[in-house]
Amino acid sequence: MCEENAQIPGEPSKKKKKNVLYWFRRCLRLHDNAALVEVLKEADTFRCIFILDPWFAGASQVGINKWRFLLQSLEDLDSRLRKLNSRLFVIRGQPTDIFPKLFQKWDISALAFEEDPEPFGKERDSAVCTKSQDAGIEVIIKTSHTLFNLQKILDKNSGVPPLTYKRFQRILARMDPPPRPVEAVTSVTIGSVVTPINSDHDDQYGVPTLEDLGFDTDNLEAAVWKGGETEALSRLDRHLERKAWVASFEKPKMTPQSLMASPTGLSPYLRFGCLSTRLFYWRLTDLYRKVKKRTDMPLSIHGQLLWREFFYTAATNNPKFDRMVGNPICVQVPWDKNPEALAKWAECKTGFPWIDAIMTQLRQEGWIHHLARHSVACFLTRGDLWISWEEGMKVFEEQLLDADWSINAGMWLWLSCSSFFQQFFHTYCPASFGRKADPTGDYIRKYLPVLKAFPTKYIYEPWTAPMEIQVAVRCVIGVDYPLPIVNHAEISQINMERMKQIYHQISLKSGPLSKYVRRRQRHMMEMTEGVSRHVFMYGPGNPQNIPNLSSARGIPLQAAKWQMSLQQSKRNHSSSESDQDRKVVRGDSRHMMMHNQ
Ligand SMILES: Cc1cc2nc3c(=O)[nH]c(=O)nc-3n(C[C@H](O)[C@H](O)[C@H](O)COP(=O)(O)OP(=O)(O)OC[C@H]3O[C@@H](n4cnc5c(N)ncnc54)[C@H](O)[C@@H]3O)c2cc1C
Repeated sequence: MCEENAQIPGEPSKKKKKNVLYWFRRCLRLHDNAALVEVLKEADTFRCIFILDPWFAGASQVGINKWRFLLQSLEDLDSRLRKLNSRLFVIRGQPTDIFPKLFQKWDISALAFEEDPEPFGKERDSAVCTKSQDAGIEVIIKTSHTLFNLQKILDKNSGVPPLTYKRFQRILARMDPPPRPVEAVTSVTIGSVVTPINSDHDDQYGVPTLEDLGFDTDNLEAAVWKGGETEALSRLDRHLERKAWVASFEKPKMTPQSLMASPTGLSPYLRFGCLSTRLFYWRLTDLYRKVKKRTDMPLSIHGQLLWREFFYTAATNNPKFDRMVGNPICVQVPWDKNPEALAKWAECKTGFPWIDAIMTQLRQEGWIHHLARHSVACFLTRGDLWISWEEGMKVFEEQLLDADWSINAGMWLWLSCSSFFQQFFHTYCPASFGRKADPTGDYIRKYLPVLKAFPTKYIYEPWTAPMEIQVAVRCVIGVDYPLPIVNHAEISQINMERMKQIYHQISLKSGPLSKYVRRRQRHMMEMTEGVSRHVFMYGPGNPQNIPNLSSARGIPLQAAKWQMSLQQSKRNHSSSESDQDRKVVRGDSRHMMMHNQ
């Protein structure tokens, strides 16, 4: 891998024109683009390229909403570059094949790009650096996708990633704040550097349409999230105006409205780098100082951005971060293989309206609220279906506009209790949690119109409605809308016990993971003693109201085996301990979970 700003020997002579390339990958912006600013210095000509990798283009794991967002972001870049008398060059191929050809064709002497903090990106960039070195090309790499240079964080923790947020915060507290964003690229930055543009530029290097990429767009709804730096910057202004107006620097309380896409939402823009995380960080800092008239900054002001950084740090040197097997920080859980149940979850057919509405919003719009993500992730994994978090992560990867390899895998690891040691006796009821978030059920009516006419009383558990009502609203459960895929009250209890046994087994073993689990278990015990809790009977209503569940689900959940081990474990544990652990916390638990992580 080339070092940041590495100088490759064999620089061209002074007289020769300096032709440079800037390679956009994420960082789809002209503001806070340190590598672009750097490469423009002393250049005579510059070309900004984006490589459409056919592997990526053909990858089935990228949904149409994501493609549209990317293409809109490229269009926006191209139009911003046009205003600077330049253009974007979209090129198809594999980076390692393309670069040697471009170096020759355009007589290039320097290549610049933003550092990719993720393992596969680092591998690709290392191969490109080698090719560049072979061709005698100077390579400029700058960190700007993350707030910090992640290696510096690792160095402060003996070279390994901190696995608790508390520890991570302690390390950050010993570091300087992240660098301020660099000046945006303007006509002043560009000066006399020109972009050679041919008259057939659009044919050769234009941004393709969805149709060009083979997508059928006939029934495509208008985009809820519009890609691009221009949109990102105006959203940032609105986001900060709102923060200043309420003079609040805490995460807003969840309301039914928060379940909907917000015009101030930023996550897809941070993911694609249409918005610089450092710009966001510093604009927030400056605003806080102005509004609160204080210079001391609690770390919590930047809470969400630091969580992002936390997962990037955890993943940066772990190519198996998105897998269970071989992942050193992941608890090995014998998840069920259940393609039928997985498909029902992914295709919004679980029979739990709260879960199905969330998954519908994800498919239609490409974004869902944080707690909605919690609900569906818990339901798929340790809560109900006992299906591997890797499967859920892949569906999110395909559908979520903000799906980020590190954050997505990190959050799934966390939600499934596979790492970062989340408390497995906290779970989400797929009916009552939704009801708390949106008591009227309007969210469900919006995304599942088939249930629209159900009285509010039954909207979260429509199978409990008397048959006369089901007939009157023209939606008979089991015919027009599925029966619930599982009996939540029963299965969630069995699953919690499964998880408890797995953790118990790990704590008996030796090795760093076990040591860590033991420490976390002690910590959890302390936490549970100190925190007052709402204990409630979890499960959507009375299980007896669920008609013919066993045939409705038709899913071999190995429940009998676990029932046996549950009984065995009950014998082994004192009743007070079991009762304690089976408590379920409901309500807006995000805050609490964040603390506990
Ligand atoms: C199972 C699961 C998967 C997730 N996958 C992703 C993902 O792939 N990409 C992603 O950006 N977020 C992910 N999140 C975190 C979070 O849900 C989203 O960042 C958030 O909902 C985005 O909404 P917002 O724009 O209102 O962000 P805000 O809440 O306003 O936060 C601003 C930014 O901070 C970062 N952020 C916020 N919360 C978190 C968090 N808990 N962990 C890490 N970073 C955070 C994001 O970059 C976000 O854009 C996931 C959460 C869960 C439970």
